[in-house]
Amino acid sequence: MDRRVRVRFAPSPTGPLHIGGVRTALYNYLFAHKHGGDFLIRIEDTDQTRFVPGAEEYIIESLKWLGIEASEGIGFGDGPFAPYRQSDRKPMYKTYVMQLIEAGHAYYAFDTADELEAMRERLKASNVDAKYDAITRGSMKNSLTLSEDEVNRRLLNEEPYVVRFKLPRKEEIKFEDEIRGWVSFNTNQMDDKVLYKSDGMPTYHLANVVDDYLMQITHVIRGEEWLPSAPLHVLLYRAFGWENLMPKFAHLPLLLKPEGNGKLSKRDGDRLGFPVFPINWIDPNTQELSSGYREAGYLPEAVINLLAFLGWNPGTQQELFDLAELVQAFSLDRVSKSGAKFDQNKAKWFNQQYVRKLSDENLAPVLQAAVLNAGLNQTFAAEFILKVCSLVKEKISFTKEIWEYSKYFFIAPSEYDEQVIKKKWSDKIPNLLTDLISNFEQIEAFTHETAEAAYQEALAKNDVLGKDFLQLFRVILTGVAGGPPLFEIAALVGKKESISRITNASVKISQKTS
Ligand code: GLU
Repeated sequence: MDRRVRVRFAPSPTGPLHIGGVRTALYNYLFAHKHGGDFLIRIEDTDQTRFVPGAEEYIIESLKWLGIEASEGIGFGDGPFAPYRQSDRKPMYKTYVMQLIEAGHAYYAFDTADELEAMRERLKASNVDAKYDAITRGSMKNSLTLSEDEVNRRLLNEEPYVVRFKLPRKEEIKFEDEIRGWVSFNTNQMDDKVLYKSDGMPTYHLANVVDDYLMQITHVIRGEEWLPSAPLHVLLYRAFGWENLMPKFAHLPLLLKPEGNGKLSKRDGDRLGFPVFPINWIDPNTQELSSGYREAGYLPEAVINLLAFLGWNPGTQQELFDLAELVQAFSLDRVSKSGAKFDQNKAKWFNQQYVRKLSDENLAPVLQAAVLNAGLNQTFAAEFILKVCSLVKEKISFTKEIWEYSKYFFIAPSEYDEQVIKKKWSDKIPNLLTDLISNFEQIEAFTHETAEAAYQEALAKNDVLGKDFLQLFRVILTGVAGGPPLFEIAALVGKKESISRITNASVKISQKTS
């Protein structure tokens, strides 16, 4: 019988969550929903030396901001497999490690740091891989070389120890990765990893496998950096006798620097001006800021969409997907094996697409706040604000840019794009402007159509071509060379304001150019 699909995102609270980690969470979420299964969050905090206060809260807040909601686990309400934080599960790992020791799959090792170092030096000197393995373990202080009495004496004395996995010698470990196909490792490339320490804490490897088993995880979807750990995990499932319940593995490709060489890092983000974290993080020790997508003005929908495409594609031309559409379209066999290059322009493009999709009503508060912030001694009707939003939306990539692109709706320009003036101002212009003003004055219902008709008439009368004046006229009305359809702008600021702007400009620019 097929098991119900259960996947997990299992971050360690060691600092802010890199967007590569967010993508792992997203793919797990998509996979779970696609298969009508469960997605849980488990916090893997067994390495107390790397614990960073606030990191767990940061991870949960990031996932919530993005809408990557878990069905159970830390931050989303306990489910049937609580607790979901490994430090809270500490007592239960002992039983499992004892089971491995008793079955001969693991052993106590009492070597001190100095003894381990001496072993490494010795092996390095003879040009052998310096690792604790099937060959070296025979000359170290462990329960395979010491007598049973000696081992018991040390345990009773509470001497510090670790429990190591006893790797089989020269064995080929093969498993089928859902993304990479068959992968194989030889145990002679591996070492006897530490599974447990005498302080009662398991290491990642033991805790991860035991918890995946107990939490009935069916698919382990995680970053490529964990691929070398997978053969050990396979061996652990075998050693426990859980092979028939071993999850399937899927190792996701790395996120690469925009240039494609090496893993995407915070430094790349700082260097090229884009965030590599979902939300801002201030390091509690150094106060250093790692900037986040949220604070940089990205919409959560855009971040989801751009992350989905870093390592996966739907196999069609469609690029814009909301979370529900991604669930429908997602499959692991369309996840690529090779690393995904981060493209900051594409990231911006995704945000622009989602800003365009915002309703005017959603955007209006952002503009309203900017207008207030500008401290103008004039109020603007809600309808006016909405209309500006609808015109400017197409032009911006971030909502916070809206004021920059729309301030001329609220404040008449006092400076004019010099290049356009230089290129387009001619002797014919002053008369043309006078005619334009008088034509505008005669309009009763000032709309973009009537304004444009009046403009055409003035052009014809002065024998000026549209191509020679339109951009200049834009600069006269707005100060800048680009923007939404010009007669829409004129209609919105109104007849009186349009005339006053033309009058102002004609005086100011004439003075400058004469
Ligand atoms: N705790 C590991 C991490 O921080 C999880 C790896 C896994 O998913 O097995 O990425």
